[in-house]
Amino acid sequence: MRDSYNGSTPPFQGGDAGPTPVSRSCSEGKTLDGFSPPCLPAGRRYLPFPLSSPRGLNPTRLETFLKKDKHAEEILRILKKTYPNAECALIHRNAWELLIATILSAQCTDVRVNMVTPVLFKTYPTPETLAKAPIAKIERIIRSTGFYHNKAKAIKGASALIVKKFHGKVPRTIEELLQLPGVARKTANVVLGTAFGKNEGVVVDTHVKRLAARLGLSKHTSPAKIEQDLMALFPKNEWTNLSHMLIWHGRQICTARKPRCGDCPLNRVCPSAFKV
Ligand code: SF4
Repeated sequence: MRDSYNGSTPPFQGGDAGPTPVSRSCSEGKTLDGFSPPCLPAGRRYLPFPLSSPRGLNPTRLETFLKKDKHAEEILRILKKTYPNAECALIHRNAWELLIATILSAQCTDVRVNMVTPVLFKTYPTPETLAKAPIAKIERIIRSTGFYHNKAKAIKGASALIVKKFHGKVPRTIEELLQLPGVARKTANVVLGTAFGKNEGVVVDTHVKRLAARLGLSKHTSPAKIEQDLMALFPKNEWTNLSHMLIWHGRQICTARKPRCGDCPLNRVCPSAFKV
C-alpha cells in the first residue's frame, strides 16, 4: 500500500493549481490502494505515488506524472466538448431500478437490458415485491440477459436486503452497497454517481477498460487498478461524467473490433491512433 502523502512536502494536486496541502485529519484521502473514497474538494486529485521520501523528490516520476496529467487534461477537454450530455444508457426511474438494471447489465448490452426491465418493473415495481417474487418467474423475465440463474438470485437477494436492512431504500454509501448480492465496485459506482450524484470512483466496464489502455491512461488489466489510475489522473468531480463519456466513445467510435480512428476527435492525442 502506498501513501499519497507521506512527507513534509505538500502533495501536488494536478492542473495549474500547484501544490496544495491536504488535511492530515482526512484519513480517507491518504491512500489509493484501500479504495476509500477521498474527501478531497471537487477538482482536486490524488497522487498515485509519494512525492517525497526520506531521499527527497523523485524528479523522473514527477515528470512522468506531470506529462500524463496534461495528457489526461486534454483528453477530458475533448471528451467534454464531444459528449456534453453523456449519461447512463440504462433506462431507470429511481435508484433501485438503476441498481437492478446495472446488475442485469453484466455481460449483456444495455439495449437488451432496456428491453427486459420494463416488463420486470411492471410485474415487480418495488424492492418488496421483487424480494417476494418466485425465482422461476424472475428467471423467465430476465432470461435473455444471460446468466439468468445468478442474476435472478442477485436481484431478488439485493431487494430482500434493501427491505430488511435499509428500510426499502437503496443505501447511499459504497460500503453498504457492496453488502448487496450481485453488487461489486462497478455497480456501486454507477448507482452512487448516476442516481445520487456522488463521485466515489470511476466505473470501469469493458469500454472504459479498453479505452484506458488505448489512450495510454493505464497499463493495468485489472479493473480495480485501472480505476485507481483514472482516479489519480482525473478530477474527482469528473469521475462519473468521465465514465459516461468513455462508455459513449467506446460504443460509438472506439469500438472493440474496428475503432474509427479517422473520425475520432481524440486521434491527435491517442497513442493508439491508426495502430489498432
Ligand atoms: S484514435 Fe482510434 S484508438 Fe484512439 S481513441 Fe480514437 S478510435 Fe480509439
